[in-house]
Amino acid sequence: MAVPYAPIAVPRMEVVLGHRTIGCAVLTSGRTRRLGLRIAPESGLVVTAPQGTGEQAIQAFLERHRRWVLRWTARLDGETAAARRWPYGPTLLYRGDAHTVLVRQAPASGVALTRGRRLLVSARAGSLESARRILRRWLMDEASRVLAQRVEVLGAQMGTEARQVYVRNLRARWGSCWPGGSLSFNYRLIMAPPAILDYVVVHELAHLRDRSHSPRFWAMVAGHAPLLHEARRWLRTYGALLSV
Ligand SMILES: [Zn+2]
Repeated sequence: MAVPYAPIAVPRMEVVLGHRTIGCAVLTSGRTRRLGLRIAPESGLVVTAPQGTGEQAIQAFLERHRRWVLRWTARLDGETAAARRWPYGPTLLYRGDAHTVLVRQAPASGVALTRGRRLLVSARAGSLESARRILRRWLMDEASRVLAQRVEVLGAQMGTEARQVYVRNLRARWGSCWPGGSLSFNYRLIMAPPAILDYVVVHELAHLRDRSHSPRFWAMVAGHAPLLHEARRWLRTYGALLSV
């Protein structure tokens, strides 16, 4: 009998600090030696801990960093709770739409995109880490397929052609243009709405004509990406949420 798909997410716990109850995700790993803390819009507050760390140890750790925790959770409260992404929340963005992630243990790993906006992940280990790795690989393949297509279509409209298209896990950029006519793109663009991905493609294609950000360059971009200003604002606001 087949194992059903089920939600899988980073476990959460609630901790009382002063007068406030703070929710945090607890990410344990056999490779982690010491307790650590981080906070980001897509994850909220995350405690990283060695395997087998008890709730009391986590509570005491947060108590020691109480000022830092309260300051940053206050700053990120409200709007970010709704923005949390899988595995810190239930859904992951794919082409701008929230998709529910469900995982099951299966002999062959893969991802299926189904009706009702669901991403069904089959993983041999069925663990969070393997599901994450499989999803990243799938997103990378999807990004490669879609970006190659859009570079071709938009390049034809603009009368330019890229020599090579690379899709990578870029750390700090959405795209870049190399001398010789190659373009690189960040695979996380596949999570953004199609118009946002198109804007980045148009931006890099325009660099094949003009390496600078001159008025002539921006006029060229505006001619082919009419939502240019909205797209730049969207990436500044939500760019950090495009992660898995
Ligand atoms: Zn640029």
